[in-house]
Amino acid sequence: MVAKLIDVFFGCRHSRYSFPVTLRGTARRPQAGALTGTYVACLDCGREFAYDWQEMKVIDSPSERRQYVASLATKQAA
Ligand SMILES: [Zn+2]
Repeated sequence: MVAKLIDVFFGCRHSRYSFPVTLRGTARRPQAGALTGTYVACLDCGREFAYDWQEMKVIDSPSERRQYVASLATKQAA
C-alpha cells in the first residue's frame, strides 16, 4: 500500500514484469498489446506495456513506440 503511494507520487520504475502474454483473436485487447500483439504487466503498479518477442524487450517509452511503429512500416513497405 505504501509502495503503491510512492509509485503514484514518484513514479514506478517498472522493474518487475509479468511473463509476456500473447493475445489471440480480437477478444478483449488491452491497449498495450495492440502494438505487437504481446504485452507484459508491471508487477508493482499494474501498468501494461507492449512487448517485442523478437527483440526480447519491453516497449515502455513513447519514443520507443514511435520507433517500433516506424520499423513496422518499413518492413511492410519492403
Ligand atoms: Zn510499474
